[in-house]
Amino acid sequence: MGRERNLKEKFFLAKKLIEKSKKILILSHKAPDGDALSSTLAMHYFLKRKNKESHPFLLNPPKYLSFLEGYDEIEKKAKKIRKIDFDLILLLDYATKDRIEIPAKFELDEKKCITFDHHPEDFHIGKVKIIEEKFASTTELLYEFFLFLEEKITPSLATILLCGIITDTAGGKRLPQESLKRVGELLLKGADLKKILEKYYSFSLERGKLLGKLLSRIKTQKNIGVLYSYFLLDEIKKAKDFSLLEPPIFPDFLTQIEGYDIYLFLCEQKKGRVKVSLRSKKTDVSKIAKKFGGGGHKKASGFRKKGKIKEILKKLLKEIEKEKQKA
Ligand code: 5GP
Ligand code: MN
Repeated sequence: MGRERNLKEKFFLAKKLIEKSKKILILSHKAPDGDALSSTLAMHYFLKRKNKESHPFLLNPPKYLSFLEGYDEIEKKAKKIRKIDFDLILLLDYATKDRIEIPAKFELDEKKCITFDHHPEDFHIGKVKIIEEKFASTTELLYEFFLFLEEKITPSLATILLCGIITDTAGGKRLPQESLKRVGELLLKGADLKKILEKYYSFSLERGKLLGKLLSRIKTQKNIGVLYSYFLLDEIKKAKDFSLLEPPIFPDFLTQIEGYDIYLFLCEQKKGRVKVSLRSKKTDVSKIAKKFGGGGHKKASGFRKKGKIKEILKKLLKEIEKEKQKA
């Protein structure tokens, strides 16, 4: 009960700050995923309707979601942003301060910021910090905020909000029971689930072939319930127009293989730099990701690390073994 009241109080503070601001900047995280994009677009949609001068900024918004309303209005040039004296800055879905995509040479004044996030409370910043882990996506938190404000949820806005929920739950596969009510409400308000799923679940033939490679080299360590696979830099480089995020199917595809607890996907992104995605059915993998300088959610987390895939894997498997012995 206390927490609910607390959330409403924070919503009220955010409402007041938005009301008295004119020029508003919206920022999210680097390498934006579906939720980063959708929460940015949802906020932009709302601010425009309130006749605010809204500036959504993202360097590389996922192209596969370009059907969402407002996508073409996203600003990608830091130069333009630097010239504006903003009254307010909204920070969405970023998890920790270092992950915020700040426009180049832009001074981020923390006193002007409000955070909306569903990642565990960590290195967040701002005058008001609205952080609720119980939501499956930042858009689900924004939906709650819009209901608090008694905003009309049009079919376009409902689609944007649902898109954040679906893409942040591996295409709906990790949808928590508690979110289903809000998903139902968004569908009744006209959210286009069919379009979201069509975009999320389709990929090019080239991508399909890479997926084949990933599956063919899976290894497992049964005693600790781990399944893993990887991509090397050469393989990624050879593929045309390749991005891990368009759509982000690779780590989550592995989780469809039954009988394991932890799924690891490693990808060499630059020479000597590896990105690791951890997924789990039971174990809290965010604890493990934190040990390697990353973070995330209990069932989906990640980190980036210097080194070779083999070396990182060895350390990672050792840490998982330690964690499992504790449990
Ligand atoms: P993914 O494996 O899909 O990139 O990320 C899954 C989750 O882990 C995301 O929700 C994200 O917040 C978190 N995550 C991924 N990479 C990092 C990282 O380098 N640092 C932190 N703190 N979190 C990460
Ligand atoms: Mn998110």
